[in-house]
Amino acid sequence: MAAATSSVSTSSITEEELTLTVKWSGKEYTVRVCGDDSVGELKRRICELTNVMPKRQKLLYPKIGNKLADDSVLLSQLPLKSSLKMTMIGTVEDDIIVDQVDSSEVVDDFELGQDEAVDIKDKEVNKQKLRRRIDQYKFYFSFIRILEPDGKYYVYYVPREKAAVLDIDYTLFDHRSTAENPLELMRPYLHEFLTAVYAEYDIMIWSATRLKWIELKMGQLGVLNNPNYKITALLDHLAMITVQSDSRGIFDCKPLGLIWAQFPEFYNPKNTIMFDDLRRNFVMNPQNGLTIKPFRKAHANRDSDQELVKLTQYLLAIAELDDLSTLNHENWEFFAEDNTKRRRHA
Ligand SMILES: [Mg+2]
Repeated sequence: MAAATSSVSTSSITEEELTLTVKWSGKEYTVRVCGDDSVGELKRRICELTNVMPKRQKLLYPKIGNKLADDSVLLSQLPLKSSLKMTMIGTVEDDIIVDQVDSSEVVDDFELGQDEAVDIKDKEVNKQKLRRRIDQYKFYFSFIRILEPDGKYYVYYVPREKAAVLDIDYTLFDHRSTAENPLELMRPYLHEFLTAVYAEYDIMIWSATRLKWIELKMGQLGVLNNPNYKITALLDHLAMITVQSDSRGIFDCKPLGLIWAQFPEFYNPKNTIMFDDLRRNFVMNPQNGLTIKPFRKAHANRDSDQELVKLTQYLLAIAELDDLSTLNHENWEFFAEDNTKRRRHA
């Protein structure tokens, strides 16, 4: 981690907006960031403008050596001046197969201490990051607005009373195994699960990769044009924020507050549940997250994996509750069991 640099002239540079010029491929781009953003977040902003994925970017800036190679360095720690230009070297992955292979490194989940997790959620700097992301993120909807032949957009939409936000990698799909046909890597009962859940929940898909890959993958699995259910929204890596923890350094997470702020009339902490195999993705909204058992080694496990069947029962059982955030989703398997027993004895 780079030491704070004394040549930074402004005192409250952390909250201050910096306007940087980034040169890439013969063009100049203006990027607005804040001092409390990390280099990783700067790369994400650059990705929004250039479509070069953060991990493919190399940033060059006069006189600061290789500090821009460390994604965890905060921009306030670097002597950036708006008069100087940054150069980015990197290539857009038009071959999106590349992305499929290394869209996420094998990173095991980790537990943050209870206090630390609460701290991250409540930290003002993280709330600010979320607010900025709310302002910046462009939602992609697959069906809410439909362009009709008269050239106008129409909204055909009756929201469900609840929302389920689903991760892709290791949650719905084993992205690390190889197969002739992606359907072989699909988690068993995916369509049955989505069909059943759609009776009570709007379904959104949020993956830490590019929208193009999400559309491709979900399209191949037959999720985007399925006659039995609709996908309300797709969210990608640009919707994530980077937070800092004392024990684990920086990591990205999926703040549901982004969805709640965009559609306050539909979705809120009481009616939203999120599935992900990585618990840290819930750190901004721990009461709304359910850690799903990762679906790995599809070829060995696809005859025995029953997670989505069990989770269907859970989601339908809790759908009648007014407030999902009072549940402890970590105990979801016991809830389903208790509920079955209750029904059997009734
Ligand atoms: Mg995952």
